Amino acid sequence: MIASENYAPIAVLQANSSVVCNKYSEGYIGRRYYGGNKYIDEIEGLCKKRALKLYGLDEKIWDVNVQPLSGSTANLAVYMGIVGKNGRIMGMDLSSGGHLSHGYRIKRRKITASSMFFRSKSYKIDEEGKIDYGDIERKYKKHRPDLVICGASAYSLDIEYKRIREIIGEDTYMMADISHVSGLIASGLLKNPFEVVDIVTTTTHKILRGPRAAMIFYRRSKMVKKERVDMKSKIDSGVFPGLNGGPHNQKIAALGVALKLANSVDYKSYGEEVIRNAKILADYLEEKGCKIVGGRTENHLILFTYPGIRGAELEKVCDLANISINKNCIKSDKSPMNPTGIRIGTPAITTRGLNREDVLYVGELLMRAIKITLNLKERALGKDIDYLMTNDLEINKLKKDVVDFIYKFPIPCFNFRF
Ligand SMILES: *Cc1c(COP(=O)(O)O)cnc(C)c1O
Repeated sequence: MIASENYAPIAVLQANSSVVCNKYSEGYIGRRYYGGNKYIDEIEGLCKKRALKLYGLDEKIWDVNVQPLSGSTANLAVYMGIVGKNGRIMGMDLSSGGHLSHGYRIKRRKITASSMFFRSKSYKIDEEGKIDYGDIERKYKKHRPDLVICGASAYSLDIEYKRIREIIGEDTYMMADISHVSGLIASGLLKNPFEVVDIVTTTTHKILRGPRAAMIFYRRSKMVKKERVDMKSKIDSGVFPGLNGGPHNQKIAALGVALKLANSVDYKSYGEEVIRNAKILADYLEEKGCKIVGGRTENHLILFTYPGIRGAELEKVCDLANISINKNCIKSDKSPMNPTGIRIGTPAITTRGLNREDVLYVGELLMRAIKITLNLKERALGKDIDYLMTNDLEINKLKKDVVDFIYKFPIPCFNFRF
């Protein structure tokens, strides 16, 4: 139930382990530093076409780079190409739901490349758990970043891209990192950032159900302070030779497959089902006493807390019961290693075919895990609950029920009981 995970279809897995994995093809289509790339050029060209088509983008205005190896490096490539070393960037704070690669640092400790090589500031969510657009405005005016990043990893509400653009004006670069919600945006189920931003990055292995990789969409040119900027050369050179060597062609091939599958009526209904399942689960958990950050969900994920429980404790109990969830910072948390929040998502279970009733049962299983955790804490009298967990009867019973239940929903390519 990890919000960033999914199950890629067999066709994607096959392409991802195909012979194109063996080929070196540094450079871009028609301009490679290695011979023998006729078919690689075709594959990359097809992948790019499908990417632009999925978002309904005009090839004259938009282009896409499909060579990034992963989401974090895609973002770095953009910063390198667009703002350069020590350039100023501003993104959402990690504990507000943002991503490490959006400039995260712990006060002065610059622990990510995005804060080490670029000057970064973060904006936050407000008391209700909604993006604090006033904070964006204040920090924008004070720090004048060259690039503003929106998009998140643990934020359950839609984002008002237009409002952010109005705050920062046209002379500032604006990027949306839609990694978590790329498929929902493609299907028209959430607001469309392409209308107002200059750059869109996304991973491809989350809701999009592709290989572990990423893409960067960008407007081919942009006017900044009355000067035309050639975005294509900046971004493409940020990816290669800026950050990458040879592209991972097997990922590009697999991405081509995933993009075709995502451009279908079936995929759109999948997205609708993902959101419906998340809403059902959020309502259920709230009714049972969980506090939903942001008050509700508008997408595929739920960030919540339960009185008296830390995220890591519930994560451990769930691990022992074969439920995969993850602890997650919420705004008031001090340490990302021991936060109070728990993040869950519905993309993977929806791929496995869980519907309304099934999701309610999942909610029941989660509440049992919560009750078990509370009970263990009571018995541990303030000490660590780890030693009580091994061979705990209730956890074992929960695990059996989890396995009996989920076995009815096979995973693509992987269907045996263990
Ligand atoms: C997952 C994620 C990334 C990073 O992707 P990796 O492939 O793990 O490097 C970047 N940005 C956001 C918003 C994400 O959710």
